[in-house]
Amino acid sequence: MNNFYKSFKKRRILKEGDLCRKCNTPVIKKIPKDTRGRLKRAYCFTYYFYCPNCKQKYMVEKAKITIEEAKKTSRFNSLNLGI
Ligand SMILES: [Zn+2]
Repeated sequence: MNNFYKSFKKRRILKEGDLCRKCNTPVIKKIPKDTRGRLKRAYCFTYYFYCPNCKQKYMVEKAKITIEEAKKTSRFNSLNLGI
């Protein structure tokens, strides 16, 4: 039980510098510059984590924002998402 919880926790990428699940390289925080044409889903992300080694992207639940919220948020507009 403890081991299961530990390994589950270990696999989550929550902040910059956390280790990539595939290659153990510290991930870096990225902000999407322009998601125009990719806004068909009901939500998008204000930031994500990226592994510079294997190019894996890790989306974070905390960074998730609905398109409706995004339209209302000036902070989001400043990210130049084109909406
Ligand atoms: Zn990696």
